[in-house]
Amino acid sequence: MPVRLVDSHGHLNADRFDGDLEQVVGGARLAGVERILVPGWNVRSSERALEVVGRWDWLDAAVGVHPHDAAKVAAADWTVIEAWARDDRVVAIGETGLDSDRMFSPWPDQLDNLRRNLALALATAKPAILHCRSRVGERDAQDALVAELRAAGFDGAAARDAFGGRPPAVIHSFSGPVDYAAEVVAMGLAVSFSGLVFRRGEEASADAVRLVPAHHLLVETDAPFLSPPGAPRGRNQPEFVAITARWAAGLRGDEEGGFGDHLVTAYDATFPRPLAR
Ligand SMILES: [Zn+2]
Repeated sequence: MPVRLVDSHGHLNADRFDGDLEQVVGGARLAGVERILVPGWNVRSSERALEVVGRWDWLDAAVGVHPHDAAKVAAADWTVIEAWARDDRVVAIGETGLDSDRMFSPWPDQLDNLRRNLALALATAKPAILHCRSRVGERDAQDALVAELRAAGFDGAAARDAFGGRPPAVIHSFSGPVDYAAEVVAMGLAVSFSGLVFRRGEEASADAVRLVPAHHLLVETDAPFLSPPGAPRGRNQPEFVAITARWAAGLRGDEEGGFGDHLVTAYDATFPRPLAR
């Protein structure tokens, strides 16, 4: 029996999986992956996420708009996303967030986009999936994100009313200083770690992964991106989440099997899965 695994963020809706999706999903299953969340980043990819998860009943979708696409989504497109967000196969809103590293959309558009995604998360009681990147060594995006979460009520009554005890948001592909990790943990958010932790400049992730409580700790690939060492550089796949899970378990001093059980429990406690199978 392989160690149990989840991939809380894998873009199987990306074009680069069109040719061999069956093999990729099958390979993940053989490697022990029991849950994969497929997030959208714009309208087309959100629709494709729904198509993909319709083919395997153990996959889940998220719909939303990424900060890179913030300036490219028309009002009518947003209405379509709002409708899809109510679908039972959709267990989260996103991915959304802020990115001051690449700044593919102007900052004011990123803020507007983040706010409407957060509002949709509260309205649907489905957690927001948050991308947050600053330039290496800087933290402006992380500080802005925390301020936006507080302004939207994610640290208080609004989130408690909508989500009960569940996390109102997931910090996806954690990047940032340790005190930022402590801040989002104190707000009750879930934190997900990807192959990014192995990159230069991301050394604080090793301390961050030790302070996230087990019931709020997730791992992910962000496939096809962010290959960890040992995975093909060209295209990451959900099965390689095992590498990041082993890293996390080692730093926490957890036995891998027990850590895997915790991952599945944390996933199910984070994402509402009314169709759970
Ligand atoms: Zn992503």
